Amino acid sequence: MGDQLNHQHSWFDEKNDDTLFVIMEMRQETDYVRHHIQKVVSYFLAMRHFAEVIENKGFQVKYFKLDDVDNCQNLTENLHFLIQQYDIQHFEYQLPDEYRLDEQLKEYCEKLNGNSITTKAVGTEHFLSERTEVYETFKNKKTYLMETFYRNMRRKYHILMEDDGKKPLTGKWNYDAENRKKLPKKITIPPQKRFFRNVEELVKTIESQGVETIGRIDAKYFDWAVTREESLVVLEDFIKLRLLAFGKYQDAMTERDTLIFHSKVSFAMNVKLLHPLEVVNACVDYWRKHQDTINIAQIEGFVRQIIGWREYMRGVYWAKMPEFATRNFFENTQKLPDFFWTGKTKMNCVGHAVNQSLDTAYAHHIQRLMVTGNFAALLGVHPDEVDAWYLGIYMDAIEWVEITNTRGMSQFADGGLVGTKPYVASANYMHKMGEYCTNCQYDRKVRYGQNACPLNSLYWDFYDRNRDKLEKNPRIGMMYRILDKMDGEELAKILEQASIYKENVESL
Ligand code: FAD
Repeated sequence: MGDQLNHQHSWFDEKNDDTLFVIMEMRQETDYVRHHIQKVVSYFLAMRHFAEVIENKGFQVKYFKLDDVDNCQNLTENLHFLIQQYDIQHFEYQLPDEYRLDEQLKEYCEKLNGNSITTKAVGTEHFLSERTEVYETFKNKKTYLMETFYRNMRRKYHILMEDDGKKPLTGKWNYDAENRKKLPKKITIPPQKRFFRNVEELVKTIESQGVETIGRIDAKYFDWAVTREESLVVLEDFIKLRLLAFGKYQDAMTERDTLIFHSKVSFAMNVKLLHPLEVVNACVDYWRKHQDTINIAQIEGFVRQIIGWREYMRGVYWAKMPEFATRNFFENTQKLPDFFWTGKTKMNCVGHAVNQSLDTAYAHHIQRLMVTGNFAALLGVHPDEVDAWYLGIYMDAIEWVEITNTRGMSQFADGGLVGTKPYVASANYMHKMGEYCTNCQYDRKVRYGQNACPLNSLYWDFYDRNRDKLEKNPRIGMMYRILDKMDGEELAKILEQASIYKENVESL
């Protein structure tokens, strides 16, 4: 699979002339959702390069290109074709990270076994926890808690721990509270590493095959890292230039830069070109040698994202799928506005985050959570629509990490499994953490009337319409006390404004 490009997998420890490795570009994968054009290009480039590397090492490879005439465009049909052609006796696969592929391959193997072909599923040797680890940790508990899982992982891998392996370095587990700074006006943001390639031929193939995509691409100067070597350069660049301010500005939003102090290693990790422990160890080693310039809050914040959130989300996915994909706690029904595909909206925050995503297939966490995700949640968009957008648009989007973040953390459609409260915000937050409001046509200080920022009325509308579902949540109760103290006439005007905006959402 395109997300199983693990050069260090034990499959490649020894050559065996009787083994054929198979890698497939196929319509089954390009079409299950509309992907960003840059995502399709990156996957194909990374897969083609990976195939070349293992072929050069002497392994036999069958690579299906999208436009190959013998490509059936479907995983099991292609396998069926090869198994007959090569008279295959034993079929082995790496466990997929997505539920739908897992089911497809399990079912297929049952058929093969019925025809006396032996089968085996092996691990991808990538993750730091087992598929069932989150489930096992919380099976007798009422709620899941990322922090508990994260601390277990720190102990298990002895990361940022005292020598006794029990206490965290400095005695403190989590520096999140120190990591919420707005970006200063005068700060130098390091330029991104780019790897220019002309991909016009590949884009032409994708288009001529009729694959429907979203987003924009500069095919003459495509710049994503798609090989292991390039991914290591991105990692090194992050460690040397960005780690020192990662935690501090990880929640900051700006129009000045796309990456700010983030790492941009999610694609490389998700397709397994980089191993999470390799990433974390490289960062921790560098931090150890540079403690005079990088304080512990930066490295702890980064480590938490990878051995905490990333592994935790995967565990939640396997604990709760397939039922998780049907959750819609607020019973939302709205459709996602067209401007999520065009970027044409007067709301500067949403417009910028959407346009950046269309241009680059990348947005950092807070843009996804507190700009686009926030707007969809305030509007009451059906989680299926929100999921489809996130799954398609981002380079790193694979269902196990997309749906848990989107349906769970961002939309609260799971009713509070991943997060303990909905991440929703009015213009207040947007102004506090970002710079969008300064250049916006809407007035962040106004809740109704001409030019009132839509986030303000939609924010109170969200709490008002979801009162029966949220009022008893101890982390939210205060919002209802504020709402109840609000002057009745004032509240009516705010809700009226929200209703006007909802009716005219496409013109916002
Ligand atoms: P950095 O900010 O530099 O963080 C370092 C690494 O930590 C990331 O590369 C990632 O591997 C990991 N990480 C950080 N936050 C999370 C998280 N919440 N869950 C899992 N891993 C995390 N991440 C994906 O990899 N794929 C997705 O499809 C995806 N969809 C998201 C959808 C929404 C609505 C939200 C709110 C978040 C989503 N994330 C997703 C998590 C996060 O936004 C991205 O991992 C991150 O923005 C990638 O950029 P980066 O590599 O520069 O990350």
